[in-house]
Amino acid sequence: MTTVPSIKRLDQAVINRIAAGEIIQRPANALKELIENSLDAGSTQIQILIKEGGLKLLQIQDNGHGIHKEDMGIVCERFTTSKLKKFEDLSQIATYGFRGEALASISHIAHVTITTKTKDAQCAFRASYSDGKLAPPRPGASADPKPCAGNDGTQITAEDLFYNVPTRRRALKSASDEYNRILDVVSRYAVHNSTVSFTCRKQGSSTADVQTSSTSNITDTIRQIYGSSVASELLHVEKEFPPLDFKMNASFSNANYHVKRTTFLLFINHRLVESTNIKRAIENVYTSLLPKGSYPFVYLSLEISPRNVDVNVHPTKREVHFLNEEKIVDSIASTLQEQLEGSNFSRTFYTQT
Ligand code: ADP
Ligand code: MG
Repeated sequence: MTTVPSIKRLDQAVINRIAAGEIIQRPANALKELIENSLDAGSTQIQILIKEGGLKLLQIQDNGHGIHKEDMGIVCERFTTSKLKKFEDLSQIATYGFRGEALASISHIAHVTITTKTKDAQCAFRASYSDGKLAPPRPGASADPKPCAGNDGTQITAEDLFYNVPTRRRALKSASDEYNRILDVVSRYAVHNSTVSFTCRKQGSSTADVQTSSTSNITDTIRQIYGSSVASELLHVEKEFPPLDFKMNASFSNANYHVKRTTFLLFINHRLVESTNIKRAIENVYTSLLPKGSYPFVYLSLEISPRNVDVNVHPTKREVHFLNEEKIVDSIASTLQEQLEGSNFSRTFYTQT
């Protein structure tokens, strides 16, 4: 006879840590949340500093609207947000964050420090956080936000990510792999927000690995990040589809450009997401244009009526689905097709074969 184990309630701190580890699976996820917060705050400059692939240090400095000193006590608690007030707001939410979960999650699995200054404040304030709450920066020190020097905007540092979740920490392959994922996320947001200047560098290095200027248009930004070979072969299209209630904006390579793997940057309502269906449909458009085994570069931004996308999906679910998906995917594919056929690709295409 086996003994029946008794059921016990988990400690709240353990519950929070488990939940946080599900939302933040690697440094790049945490950084994505922090970038979205900086963009939500209206920043035009975002500087990112990374140590050991973000596992030792993730730091983001922005020039956005900052956080009021009075809010610093609750900013890292779960479900505290300045963006959503009632449930109905979810259907028209325009900002990235909407449920006050990101900073809380990060503070459960890393040492978080926030330094922030609003325009009207005399000075900046700095505070440290642990498990969603203000925490003394050193044993014995006060946990209250401390006045300090600082520019308008917010600097957030997350140190020793997963220090208390050793299994998650061990599951991550290498710092350089994590750093590449970080660069990928930064690059994508930089393209989508070409009027915002982004830099990303490793601590100790004087040169940035991503650097974009705030005045650039999307082609310039793509050039700054992905190089001239793609930037000089881009087509652009902007189109509205009133019956389906969506809008698309795309920059995509013509038939003169091709690489071994598709680079697909997809934003839906300004969130970085993935859609296997859209990607497949686009690759299909290109199969007749590109040599076998070669693929395009495609940046696609969709604005779909919030009524038709469920924004309340779990943050870890990057793969999105929406209403009228099949029709929308078809419309996107045929729009790209038309543009590609209208361009001078056919000449190039025929001489290639
Ligand atoms: P959400 O983005 O869903 O509101 P977060 O946990 O990401 O939740 O952030 C909580 C709150 O902290 C935000 O609503 C915002 O008011 C504030 N905040 C976070 N990051 C910044 C930032 N970089 N600049 C200004 N305010 C910020
Ligand atoms: Mg957020």
